[in-house]
Amino acid sequence: MNLRIPGPTPCPPAVLQAVGRQMVNHRGPAFRELIQRVTAGLKQVFRTENDVLTLTTSGTGGLEAAVANFFSPGDAVLVVVTGVFGRRWADIAAAYGLKVVRLDLPVGEVPTPDQLQDALDANPEVRAVCITHNETSTGVMVDLPALARVVKGAGKLLLVDAVSSLGCIPLETDAWGCDVVVTASQKGLMSPPGLAHVAVSPAAWEFYREGRLPRFYFDLGRHRDLLARGETPWTPAVSALFGLDVALGQILAEGLEKVFERHRRLAELTRRELKGLGFKLVARDENSASNSVTAAYVPEGIDASTLIKTVRSEFNVEIQGGQAELAGKIIRVAHMGYVSEQDMTEALGAIRAALARVGSRA
Ligand SMILES: *Cc1c(COP(=O)(O)O)cnc(C)c1O
Repeated sequence: MNLRIPGPTPCPPAVLQAVGRQMVNHRGPAFRELIQRVTAGLKQVFRTENDVLTLTTSGTGGLEAAVANFFSPGDAVLVVVTGVFGRRWADIAAAYGLKVVRLDLPVGEVPTPDQLQDALDANPEVRAVCITHNETSTGVMVDLPALARVVKGAGKLLLVDAVSSLGCIPLETDAWGCDVVVTASQKGLMSPPGLAHVAVSPAAWEFYREGRLPRFYFDLGRHRDLLARGETPWTPAVSALFGLDVALGQILAEGLEKVFERHRRLAELTRRELKGLGFKLVARDENSASNSVTAAYVPEGIDASTLIKTVRSEFNVEIQGGQAELAGKIIRVAHMGYVSEQDMTEALGAIRAALARVGSRA
């Protein structure tokens, strides 16, 4: 199966082999070495000197940890909403009793620095800004360095959902001043699902000390203290860590710049092919189209779910449909993590052939 969905993404064979290893004592020296090596590798990929904590949970758990650890009830946060995952930030913050101010963008659009500046000017009580770096539901990536400059200029904490961007498109945690950055194991990091990673800046730890929201399993201070001894507070997903260890080794051996360039090239190939077939990108401006997942409206008269089913059953290629208001209207094709040009040519060939079949039946 050519798995072209935006997570979980395929794992390299060596990662799959590592995942099958025997368990180790998670309070012993073998695990200590493992978590320390993984953490060092993650810091290189996050481009940070900050703490990077690994939680056993999915990406959403990482986002929840980011909300639960740094605030008190009634604190105001500004959430940039570009789609389903921006809404998830807002929903989690609301569930924790924060005051949520939303900057909502039309489908396929990304905010300009001026829009963000205006939203901050209009809401001076806001203490932090939550941004989705790469909106997986619409296939757009925001101009994070430009937005980060606005957030930092206003003296606010910056929280970034980088689940579908880290390891695919450039993200400079320290150079851009991202205070809290969340990712997960099963996307750009080409590992099995089960781990979330949260980078925490010194400024964010100040917020942590003042924060009064309830926290326990996701208490990042506990994770930081235990990590100093090479442990995690609770039993971690040991097998997923075995896999991630090997995956990080491969990413760093390829080199981050090369990894980004591969994603850029394959994204461009995907967009060109789909446009040629009569699809229309969800991204309004192709400059903000995502390099890890392409979202596109199906051509007139084509049923998206029939197309997706045909691609799967006839060609053994798995692509994804739309979420929420885009369900039934779009397809999403991932070029994220462990992916080669051949994988994409094959997937795009399958879409072309399936389109001809579905179209001739319509
Ligand atoms: C996949 C994803 C998540 C996390 O989803 P989980 O299913 O909880 O791992 C969060 N944000 C974005 C942008 C994503 O693509």
